[in-house]
Amino acid sequence: MIKTDVVIIGAGPVGLFAVHQLGIKGLKSEVIDNLDKAGGQCIELYPDKPIYDIAGIPKCTGEELTKNLLKQIKPFKTNFHFNERVQEIKNEDDKWIVKTNKNKVFTSPNIIIAGGVGSFEPRKLYVKDNEKYEGKNIFYSVNDKNKFNGKKISIFGGGDSALDWALELSKIAKVTLIHRREQFRGAPHTLNELKKNGKVDIKTKYQISSIQGDDNIKSIIIKSDEGKEIKIETDYILSFFGLIMKLGPITEWGLNMDKKTIKVNTQNFETNKKGIFAIGDICSYPGKLKLILSGFHEGALAARGCFKYAKPDEKL
Ligand code: FAD
Repeated sequence: MIKTDVVIIGAGPVGLFAVHQLGIKGLKSEVIDNLDKAGGQCIELYPDKPIYDIAGIPKCTGEELTKNLLKQIKPFKTNFHFNERVQEIKNEDDKWIVKTNKNKVFTSPNIIIAGGVGSFEPRKLYVKDNEKYEGKNIFYSVNDKNKFNGKKISIFGGGDSALDWALELSKIAKVTLIHRREQFRGAPHTLNELKKNGKVDIKTKYQISSIQGDDNIKSIIIKSDEGKEIKIETDYILSFFGLIMKLGPITEWGLNMDKKTIKVNTQNFETNKKGIFAIGDICSYPGKLKLILSGFHEGALAARGCFKYAKPDEKL
């Protein structure tokens, strides 16, 4: 069990700045996010889009803002728990017990929910037996590319992730790239690069039809719109069909919900549960603006609220 002053759910821009506001008050936080990296919407939805409304920064991209926020909190040596969704919370002896879907357990007097529009989750590959092979032969992101060295990989998708990984993994593995449309959505220069190097077998207007294997995948069958079938020997499937946002378990924690947001007070952004705060896009109050700068303000005040419960005998 990990003991801390504050558990932060969500490593979007608002969760990251909350780490700073807690850190300068001497409070330790642990940050959990379902994604494999920090940045929330800034990094997943618009890494290259310019942002013009952060005080003191005339212009930066979503990716640059994330990098700067991470640099700003570096002194606090915060632990990040990526690829984990907070599933369950319960109160025991005036402390919150927080459990993730990977069974990691935290205990803390405070929880800050900075969950934005919900946890980002990969759109699943719909084919019989996918669950049997997920996490073993079917992946929705790449943590360690060395696993694929010398293997046969079928990559599904038409966006940047599919194109980038097809190009990268073709250096160490036999790659087939399968897309259900003729046109790819990803960057044209990556597609040109793929076609030029000729190492990746590209199949367009095909979709997965079935998987063959026992303990591990041996091959897959893909089917064209016209009904033509091709068998491809495959050790691993990488599926990049984009992300969906799910509010998920947050709705089951007994919080005062208003549609897909959590109602808070505007004094310290505490919810109807003592020691649970909500900031950023996920909170609602009269006049709420879904902007990063509003989330920073909310984080500053929530951090003061957390101090009261984490260090009840000390003065801020
Ligand atoms: P998010 O960025 O949504 O991050 C929430 C994180 O919480 C996610 O990473 C998610 O995976 C995680 N999470 C949720 N639930 C769980 C759970 N149960 N367990 C684990 N992790 C969980 N704002 C501006 O101020 N300026 C702009 O120029 C601007 N441009 C935008 C452009 C676009 C295209 C979009 C879509 C938004 C824009 N915004 C802009 C809005 C801004 O991005 C959001 O206000 C901001 O991202 C909110 O930050 P957040 O940290 O509250 O939530």
